[in-house]
Amino acid sequence: MEGQKLLIDGQRLRETLERFADFGRTSNNGVTRLSLSEEDRQVRDYFCECCKELGMEITIDDLGNIYATLPGIEDKAPILMGSHLDSVKKGGRFDGVLGVVAGLEVVRTLVENKVVPRLPLTIVNFTNEEGARFEPSMMSSGILSGKFDKEEMFKKTDASGITFGEALRAIGYEGKQKARLNDARAFLELHIEQGPILEQESLSIGVVECVVGMVCYEWEVLGESDHAGTTPMPLRKDALFTAVDMMMELRNKLTKLDKELVYTMGRVNAEPNIHTVIPDRVVFSLEARHKDPKVIQEVENIIASVQESFSGKECEVKNRKLWGRDTVMFDEALCGALEKSAESLGYSYKRMVSGAGHDAQFIASMVPTAMVFVPSINGKSHSEVECTEWEDCEKGVNVLLETVMELQSK
Ligand SMILES: [Zn+2]
Repeated sequence: MEGQKLLIDGQRLRETLERFADFGRTSNNGVTRLSLSEEDRQVRDYFCECCKELGMEITIDDLGNIYATLPGIEDKAPILMGSHLDSVKKGGRFDGVLGVVAGLEVVRTLVENKVVPRLPLTIVNFTNEEGARFEPSMMSSGILSGKFDKEEMFKKTDASGITFGEALRAIGYEGKQKARLNDARAFLELHIEQGPILEQESLSIGVVECVVGMVCYEWEVLGESDHAGTTPMPLRKDALFTAVDMMMELRNKLTKLDKELVYTMGRVNAEPNIHTVIPDRVVFSLEARHKDPKVIQEVENIIASVQESFSGKECEVKNRKLWGRDTVMFDEALCGALEKSAESLGYSYKRMVSGAGHDAQFIASMVPTAMVFVPSINGKSHSEVECTEWEDCEKGVNVLLETVMELQSK
């Protein structure tokens, strides 16, 4: 078939993405489709309908994950494609749903061209990737891979006190545990980048080699509250000024560490937070992400050294590690296959890392996994303005199709 590649139908892909966005579309052309909501039920029903029309078999596991399978010539472990259909509140039309609709478009292309794959093809929709209604995010892939406990997760409640388990039953998507994903030849997740790198470098395709590891710390600075007008400066124990000095020292040191390191002090609380009172307590977070565990270790060394240098001064300082996660490397052979596909289609691409979490990072512990990114306009996501050029969506799905075809022949 060299020279006459199978290509997807870009117009159909676009129409399908817009059709899926109808389920929970907001007035600003974004999407609110919280996990296990009425909108989620409707989009699931529609997805299943589309798959059945293609002769795919639908199974649903006990976590509400949907698997739609196109049988292959050989009854072997399938090639898995997919992502998630849930969104954050006032999210976009591409996050997650692109990966599911991509699977649909791949299968539609094969069926329309009367190509029966050697290996079965399964499209998967993972329940509650976003964690916007029920924390944590990536809940179902986390349970599948043994990272989270099912019973504990089923008791998680939303803002109105409904548990995950109740919501799952209410929308009629609680299936059987034996339907869970166990074996697959590969899992390929196409997703929007959710960052600005591909757009800035004018590239169409990102071959994602890992989801970066991270650490998250919380700092606490304790001073003394006094009157803002009557306490001379040298006699103060101002927790906020100490915290600011610490933040600057952390920033200076972390910035020099590695140009690919990203770090954030996203949460700050000053108490009592009154303009006439010297702050006596400040709590702030520091999280840092990098693919190399050695760099993360350096971050932790810096944290220890800043702690050391501020100890025994005017304020008491403490820190504690809230949590961390190791870098998840994707399957090297699959990354190579994705690169080869992009190359053979004549698309510009690069290898990159994912700073955000995805279901693929958990599934990677179960089956060979890799991800494809397409550019996000202005790097925006988790927002109604989230957008990706249709042409880039099309290219991403063509890379997926090409790779699926390539895996057939091995
Ligand atoms: Zn997503």
